[in-house]
Amino acid sequence: MTLLDRVIARTLPLVPKSIVRRVANRYIAGETTDDALRVVAGLNAGGFRATLDFLGEHIHSIDQAHRAIAEYLRLLEEIARRRVDSTISIKLTQLGLKLDARACLEMARRLIRRASELNNFVRIDMEDSSCTTDTLEIYRELRREFSNVGVVVQAYLRRTMDDVCALEDLRPNYRLCKGVYVEPREISYHDMRVINRNYVALLEKLLRNGSYVGIATHDELMVWEALRIIRELKLPNAAYEFQMLLGVDEQLRDIIRAAGHNLRVYIPFGGDWYAYSVRRLRENPRLAGYVFKAMFK
Ligand SMILES: Cc1cc2nc3c(=O)[nH]c(=O)nc-3n(C[C@H](O)[C@H](O)[C@H](O)COP(=O)(O)OP(=O)(O)OC[C@H]3O[C@@H](n4cnc5c(N)ncnc54)[C@H](O)[C@@H]3O)c2cc1C
Repeated sequence: MTLLDRVIARTLPLVPKSIVRRVANRYIAGETTDDALRVVAGLNAGGFRATLDFLGEHIHSIDQAHRAIAEYLRLLEEIARRRVDSTISIKLTQLGLKLDARACLEMARRLIRRASELNNFVRIDMEDSSCTTDTLEIYRELRREFSNVGVVVQAYLRRTMDDVCALEDLRPNYRLCKGVYVEPREISYHDMRVINRNYVALLEKLLRNGSYVGIATHDELMVWEALRIIRELKLPNAAYEFQMLLGVDEQLRDIIRAAGHNLRVYIPFGGDWYAYSVRRLRENPRLAGYVFKAMFK
């Protein structure tokens, strides 16, 4: 993390909302379901799949969780009605994980059941390390009931190799990412070279085990390693996909797609865009560097 990143992150509350919005516009599809589905349709037309994230996490009351669920249910209906190619990505804290884990499980169950009826899929995002154990437990419980649910694992956590070994019997549908939260060194790798090696080791293990993997990265070296493993294992397209965030390295996105691989774009949207942008930047000032670049490009 450079000094500049830290300075930008600290002074962010002083940056006018309009400027944060200008930067966020690139990474966030808008405030409404309509905005989001318009972006999905555009990406679909270009040959990309999508997954939608209705922004909002760390809620303070179960009522807020109910509102989030209602929004996601409406979203699932609209995806089906408009026949766009998009799954949904959820955060369990938005469904009340920190307030009432049983209620959270029930809400996730409701959502996944409806998604199953509509032939859709629900990905459970992975949040900071205080959520990892509960998220994996809830995933295990839901996976027993449903096949249209997947989870995320983070290559920067020291525990992840053990976690995927423990879940092996379920052959989960995974998204593999490096991890975006700032975690203490006791539980996470801080050296990017180690994170990258762990990413490759995990990817190889998951693919060899027959898991479907969403290879979530914008790091060209990770993409290169993924393609090497895919070639070595002679995997068909249907065994994996690449995943990238909206607005990030669209050139790499096009290169991957043009080479014939499936690619899904992760699309955050919702009224909580400002809080989301500020939170992400506070959590990981490294991202502030991207903001800075985006502002002056
Ligand atoms: C589809 C998707 C879903 C994700 N879901 C989760 C999740 O559930 N839990 C979680 O902890 N993390 C999640 N992440 C974030 C992930 O963990 C990483 O923090 C992030 O993707 C950066 O890692 P990287 O592999 O792109 O490599 P890096 O080495 O960090 O980045 C490679 C290059 O990509 C560019 N880049 C990366 N991220 C951004 C960005 N946000 N904005 C602008 N440019 C960027 C930079 O130019 C950088 O040089 C997700 C990422 C993706 C793509």
